Amino acid sequence: MEYIQHWIDGAATTGVSTRTQPVWDPASGAEQAKVLMAETADVDAAVAAAAKAFETWGESSLTKRARVMFRLRELLVEHEDELARTIASEHGKVVDDARGEIVRGREVVEYACGIVSALKGGYSDQISTGVDAFDFRQPLGVVAGITPFNFPIMVPLWMHPIAIACGNTFVLKPSERDPSASDLVAELYKEAGLPDGVFNVVHGDKTAVDAVLDHPGVSAVSFVGSTPIAKYVHERATASGKRVQALGGAKNHAVVLPDADLDDAASHLTAAAFGSAGQRCMAISVAVAVGEAADALVPVLADQARAVKVGPGHDAGNDMGPVITAEARERVASYVASGTEQGAVAVVDGRGLKVDGHEDGFFIGPSVLDKVTTDMDVYTTEVFGPLLVVVRAADLDEAIDIVNANPYGNGTAVFTGDGEAARRFQRRVSVGMIGVNVPIPVPMAHYSFGGWKDSLFGDTHIHGPEGVRFYTRAKAVTSRWPRVDRSVQAAFNFPTHG
Ligand code: NAD
Repeated sequence: MEYIQHWIDGAATTGVSTRTQPVWDPASGAEQAKVLMAETADVDAAVAAAAKAFETWGESSLTKRARVMFRLRELLVEHEDELARTIASEHGKVVDDARGEIVRGREVVEYACGIVSALKGGYSDQISTGVDAFDFRQPLGVVAGITPFNFPIMVPLWMHPIAIACGNTFVLKPSERDPSASDLVAELYKEAGLPDGVFNVVHGDKTAVDAVLDHPGVSAVSFVGSTPIAKYVHERATASGKRVQALGGAKNHAVVLPDADLDDAASHLTAAAFGSAGQRCMAISVAVAVGEAADALVPVLADQARAVKVGPGHDAGNDMGPVITAEARERVASYVASGTEQGAVAVVDGRGLKVDGHEDGFFIGPSVLDKVTTDMDVYTTEVFGPLLVVVRAADLDEAIDIVNANPYGNGTAVFTGDGEAARRFQRRVSVGMIGVNVPIPVPMAHYSFGGWKDSLFGDTHIHGPEGVRFYTRAKAVTSRWPRVDRSVQAAFNFPTHG
């Protein structure tokens, strides 16, 4: 049995950990490894290594930091296949989908390669007579990231390249369900020339998270995960004086207007609802069908959902793999049941799907529930699985009201050919990331990623320019260099201003 270790001060280590947790192969249902679960002392060791490394890394030149990022970017390209297969094996998503998350994460590294530009401050010559002013930003010190299972490469990459390029040192506590990818990235950083101690990985559960949140040596915490834990992390870490950005869960609505190309919208919705088995924070889980769009859209959605090829992520040709655990599969099934009990119509029911040769895998097929109302549990809860609900609205204004009444505000999309409707939608929705005929509007790395309302606690979005601001603090300097008149001799007599 393989034991997945922590990575502290440039080397794999078991630290003082003795507890372990199984790492499953979701496609077979078998335990494939055990991950060590950190104790508080392991987190202390990682923070101590990071604090020591900060003494030199925080003083390193921007050019040196950028060069490490350029090299890391190349190594992420060279090792894409190995990384994608590791993700597919522990998470279950199909290998090409895993490649997609590596590419999107790599874009953040590409942004970090430009850290010299991203960290440029402002300068005002002669802001007052004989006075100049400028500002610049400095790293915080040791910063930490706590990440979810659903993007084991991309979500940590939203954090550490920016933090490290800004001059900080980093402690990552990745998801214990698919931990191996983070150790691979640690090895790539070492190969890229990053000094030991700048990037550390501590595996574990609440014990490790709490140790990070309470540690006086950690200056800032980035968290991505479910809303209850995001709220908890935000409250506990801000109480101990840290800067915190805590991104939470989602219930993303796609509004389909009658003038949209419904076949095109349906295929985008199907991919956005069932890709990665619906386990994306930007997955579309609610289709809001406006007016006559509903009766036309639902049969097309149903046909497309039935056509999704479900199977192991390693087999090319599958569209969708299993969900992460047996409990996750039961949870999705329970929401299909509660939705139908509360009056929804199951036009496609994915429960009971069996994949030949993988009978013990955590598979559940795509489900589509029509005529869902906003008081049903299947609507009010983030299910986080391959389940798409259809809510009907009379017009665009009612659709916008539905989106805005939902407590989450991560992503949303509108499908339409009408520019005025799209503009009204993008201006009025209380959501952080909006797609116009784009189902999963994850901002490119030169912008920042973040939701509103219960999808984000704290006020800074992640990566891009807001990431640079989060991982640095500003100094403003006001300076005057008066001209000294050396022709005037200092006088020993009492000055009379004569
Ligand atoms: P999760 O909240 O269960 O876990 C996230 C992290 O928190 C993990 O590292 C985990 O070890 C830790 N954790 C779990 N329970 C804890 C506890 N009681 N105390 C302290 N730490 C704890 O989330 P998950 O199931 O791994 O991921 C899925 C969730 O993440 C979904 O809700 C999804 O919407 C969300 N997510 C959000 C975004 C976003 O950008 N907003 C991105 C990806 C995922």
